[in-house]
Amino acid sequence: MNHAQLTALGRALRVLGEHGDALTGDTPDTKLHEVKADIKRALNLLDDSVSGAAPSTRCPEHPNGPVDENAPDLCLLCETRRRAARRSEINGPEPAYSADPKPSRYGVREDRPQPQQRWLPELWNGQVWQLCGTPRRDRHEAELYIAAQRRGPRAAMAYRLVHEFTDYEVLRVWGTPVRVDIEPLGNL
Ligand SMILES: [Zn+2]
Repeated sequence: MNHAQLTALGRALRVLGEHGDALTGDTPDTKLHEVKADIKRALNLLDDSVSGAAPSTRCPEHPNGPVDENAPDLCLLCETRRRAARRSEINGPEPAYSADPKPSRYGVREDRPQPQQRWLPELWNGQVWQLCGTPRRDRHEAELYIAAQRRGPRAAMAYRLVHEFTDYEVLRVWGTPVRVDIEPLGNL
């Protein structure tokens, strides 16, 4: 905002303040139209003064960054950072990566730290998805486990396989999870 804009906008806003002070139940329509015109003038001045888009998030660091509707401040960048922090609280710190490429007799692939990834078998209990077995280090093993559960006499309505790595990702769903109302105890 340049100096001329600042002066004009300040004056327009002060005029609106005066209108507010003078407002009573007897203020005639002609005066209200005048107020309306002054508000429009102030809005136009504001439109000219403001540069850049309206913020898409409530994050002071990334006001125009990508949006995560589920984040309290709507900021995807900060939410990703917070998620990583929560994960490292649970799993311990991430293994440090070596910056200089040293030759290894085990080959390049083994130079990388072992990723901590697991496959979680979950079942639909009529209300929510819940873990139904030990998280596996091997996807195939987890799928075999779910297949065995589905063949069991008391199989759930649906099962799913969730990949836990840098985030949780549903890989596959078996059956249809339908929300079931909880039966009231004792029928009247
Ligand atoms: Zn942010």
